[in-house]
Amino acid sequence: MYQLPPALPPTPQAHVDKARSLLDRSVGASKILHLPESCERFSRDESEAEGRIPDLVVLAESAEDIRATLAAAQEARVPVTPRAAGTGRTGGAVPVAAGIVLDTTRMNSIVEIDRGDLVAVVQPGVILKDLHSAVEREGLFYPPDPNSVDSCALGGNIAENAGGPRAFKYGVTRDYVLGLDATLMGGTALRLGRRTVKGVAGYDLAGLFVGSEGTLGVVSSMTLQLIPKPEMVYTLFGLFSAPKDATRAVEAIIQRGVVPRCLEFTDGGALEAIRRQGVGIDPSAGAMLLIEVDGDESACDRDMVKVGEACTEIGAIDVLVAQDGVQRDKLWAARRELSRAIRELARNKLAEDVVVPRSRITDLLEAVERNGAEHRVRTLAYGHAGDGNLHVNFLWDEDDEVPRVQQCIEAMMRDVVAMRGTISGEHGIGVLKIPFLPIEQSEELIAVQRRVKDVFDPYGLMNPGKIFATSSHRGC
Ligand SMILES: Cc1cc2nc3c(=O)[nH]c(=O)nc-3n(C[C@H](O)[C@H](O)[C@H](O)COP(=O)(O)OP(=O)(O)OC[C@H]3O[C@@H](n4cnc5c(N)ncnc54)[C@H](O)[C@@H]3O)c2cc1C
Repeated sequence: MYQLPPALPPTPQAHVDKARSLLDRSVGASKILHLPESCERFSRDESEAEGRIPDLVVLAESAEDIRATLAAAQEARVPVTPRAAGTGRTGGAVPVAAGIVLDTTRMNSIVEIDRGDLVAVVQPGVILKDLHSAVEREGLFYPPDPNSVDSCALGGNIAENAGGPRAFKYGVTRDYVLGLDATLMGGTALRLGRRTVKGVAGYDLAGLFVGSEGTLGVVSSMTLQLIPKPEMVYTLFGLFSAPKDATRAVEAIIQRGVVPRCLEFTDGGALEAIRRQGVGIDPSAGAMLLIEVDGDESACDRDMVKVGEACTEIGAIDVLVAQDGVQRDKLWAARRELSRAIRELARNKLAEDVVVPRSRITDLLEAVERNGAEHRVRTLAYGHAGDGNLHVNFLWDEDDEVPRVQQCIEAMMRDVVAMRGTISGEHGIGVLKIPFLPIEQSEELIAVQRRVKDVFDPYGLMNPGKIFATSSHRGC
């Protein structure tokens, strides 16, 4: 859909045949898929990126399977695309050069939860909600909570540096990664980082791997920091006539010294998608804030009053407190499904996840509206207002609208960078945002990052065609 760089060439059959024969011996044929009909579902993720059907899929069950796969791939010169749960929004797990998809979903053990050290050790295929449940049963808390929490896995969270609604108060995945076991193309296994909160020995390579979108190596185990579980959570929602009132309320809440754990914004178009999911929301509301405060009872009571005052001062139509867990879960379920619900509003949609300094959110919404009117493209926005991270959606029905949609998105990217924001807050660059990276980053900075990748992956076989424009890999 975007004007993407030229597609990467497929992997030559002779290379694939060699890799298959090596893998049959080292990993075992029972863990390898090779029929196109079995491999087809690994050609896509939850984005609009179009990939190729992989030649082979390895269903890794251990760190040794990962090591053996990366050794065979380098020997046979076959590209490898690591994959966790496939919920990515920018095509990171989409194999654009075919080759091998290295699936890690069978590596789904929570190896350890240490209540003394406040540490969890997990494999990359663990579904995030399973980790949440396991640590919360111990009175502990792992804050990162992308809205795909029920379906995404830790390997993908690390590779994308996933955020989520709780990032405003608690930070993103990077803030909880202490150490990683990672294997490089060719099979060299490295232990990065550490198990302690403090530690400054050598370069922070664990930090570099977080958010590297599977382009440097494959993670087989991660050591994560936990914190005590907050005693209580209160959920409120404020209804406003217009988006700018909701964004002013965000400022007013923060100015009162409250740091809510979530400050989620929904504009009128996105509210419509929520209503269509059967959640009754006042028809006069043109924007909503979903707010959560947590802590002990007195802190929650105090913060809830301040949030209510701030919303009322701005002229909220209504401020409601979720009366029980059922009401709270219903609202969150609707919020978490919003991305999929918006798909029902038009034949096509593209969602961007830009960030601006929080003080510029109203400016961003105005710019999106202005660009939408100029290019005659339907837009709507929702997202993590506390972080200034909005998911701006572009909707269209007919193919001849595509050039206008592209212009509209590019105009927004330029506006975001001019406001000193960034083109991606949590979804990564993947395939879909490659054309926009040069809007934000200089040629020199992109060149340095390419050189960093070369150090880890000199043959360019590790998830090629992601983050940076590439027209070849050494397997072709
Ligand atoms: C409805 C919906 C809501 C979402 N909400 C949010 C949100 O609120 N916040 C947010 O941040 N994201 C969100 N996402 C995006 C997505 O869920 C996250 O990016 C998530 O972290 C991806 O995890 P995954 O397991 O699906 O990874 P995949 O899609 O399988 O892979 C993502 C990337 O990780 C790499 N990778 C996977 N495993 C490994 C490994 N073991 N080693 C090295 N690299 C690896 C892949 O190559 C790819 O580049 C949402 C997605 C959906 C569909």
